[in-house]
Amino acid sequence: MLKYPKDLLTLIAYLKKFPGVGKKTAERYAFQLLEWDGKELHDLAELLGTLKERVQCCSECGSLMESVLCTFCDLKNRERHVMCVTASPRDVYAIEETGNFRGVYHVLGALLSPLDGKMPETLNIPHLEERIKRLEVQELILALDSTLEGDATALFLKEQFPHVHVSRLALGLPLGSSLDFVDEGTLSQAFSGRQKF
Ligand SMILES: [Zn+2]
Repeated sequence: MLKYPKDLLTLIAYLKKFPGVGKKTAERYAFQLLEWDGKELHDLAELLGTLKERVQCCSECGSLMESVLCTFCDLKNRERHVMCVTASPRDVYAIEETGNFRGVYHVLGALLSPLDGKMPETLNIPHLEERIKRLEVQELILALDSTLEGDATALFLKEQFPHVHVSRLALGLPLGSSLDFVDEGTLSQAFSGRQKF
């Protein structure tokens, strides 16, 4: 059986790391890349090479930012007493899209999952606690996946902060679902219909 050239095989192996991309799809993408012109490939390579330096996480809330100031932490435009907790910086954008939320964010970076080594320390709870005190947060909205890990994380946070009103997005979110796969309308509905937790 004929084998692809070594570098093409390496490229295919990298592409297979994307979620939902199997061998056939990775091969199709790799051959597609071979058809791009040299300038595009060069630009893409340079972007990938410096992506981590260019796109940084805000040290305050954990959202992505491209300048020294995080737009989500600009308290002139945000309501500091309501804080939305998400697992990933990507969820912040999904919630912003709904236009229902003007508070501040806190990105945990992961959900509790002791079997995968994701313990409370991994979620940087002391920083969250410090922010809740400093910003005098009165309501914590948990925008977490409706999965076992999401449930465990929500319960943990509720127990950690008994003096804060904690609500959770629930309405319309299918059980076992990740926020990644929820459409904007459903998320918007889940936001307005959040329930005391
Ligand atoms: Zn921020």
